[in-house]
Amino acid sequence: MQIHQSIATIREALSGTPAALSGAGRIVFVPTMGNLHAGHIALMQQARAHGNVVVASIFVNRLQFRPGEDFEKYPRTFAADCEKLLAAGVDHLFAPSEAELYPEPQQYVIEPPAKHASILEGEFRPGHFCGVATVVMKLFAIIQPQAALFGKKDFQQFMVLSAMVREFALPIEIIPGETVRAADGLALSSRNGFLSATERAEAPRLFHLLQRVATTIRAGNLDYTKHEAAAKAELQDSGWIPDYVAVRKRIDLQSPTDRSPLVVLAAARLGNTRLIDNIEI
Ligand code: AMP
Repeated sequence: MQIHQSIATIREALSGTPAALSGAGRIVFVPTMGNLHAGHIALMQQARAHGNVVVASIFVNRLQFRPGEDFEKYPRTFAADCEKLLAAGVDHLFAPSEAELYPEPQQYVIEPPAKHASILEGEFRPGHFCGVATVVMKLFAIIQPQAALFGKKDFQQFMVLSAMVREFALPIEIIPGETVRAADGLALSSRNGFLSATERAEAPRLFHLLQRVATTIRAGNLDYTKHEAAAKAELQDSGWIPDYVAVRKRIDLQSPTDRSPLVVLAAARLGNTRLIDNIEI
């Protein structure tokens, strides 16, 4: 695996790949913020099935954190991450410094529409999806992949980035990865490491509660508002501070109006750690 810290070297390395030269292969890209776990590695393995040059990136993107969020304490485990990517058969790792990716303050940004970016996560993390979309657009410009993978664990992120690629007609296939979970159901996340032992034991409640909502709806009980309120109350009673539990249309995360496929999403704080999860119904 080649590790590149500069835009110039990753560009040079990729311009010489058989994919770029012959047009016969595909560069498949998996952006991350590092502190890699089995969910990330599953995306790397899936990437291998979609192309012949797998490129990962590690960059903790300040633009997508609000002041007071966990940018500073976000776990940075570069050496261990490199070993995992090597073992997963990744060909190139792009791991720029902030000075490399943002040599001057990033003033040109991608502003996703409020309809997509000010709801759910965006309501509680204003500006988050602008930061995500901007860094992903910039990484796409650097890597120029034919395909990119994003986990459905961050369902709204997947939706926003899919819409961005569609509206800008970028020639990049956006491929979803299934959420990888611990044995007790908790979705793997770099933030799980912040949980105390007691909180870690409580954390799977989020998934089990979403499962119950999904099962109830599948059984034909379509009183979404009631399910959302009951789920939030259960979280509150169990010591969480819920931001939202919401049943939405998968396609655009708007409120259900018809029989289109649904997803139930939740975000809640347990102690100092904010967890998100979702289940497709
Ligand atoms: P992050 O490093 O948190 O920015 O995540 C990098 C990519 O991994 C994103 O596309 C995430 O959606 C995805 N991801 C994070 N956690 C999981 C998980 N538990 N299962 C599958 N994909 C995940």
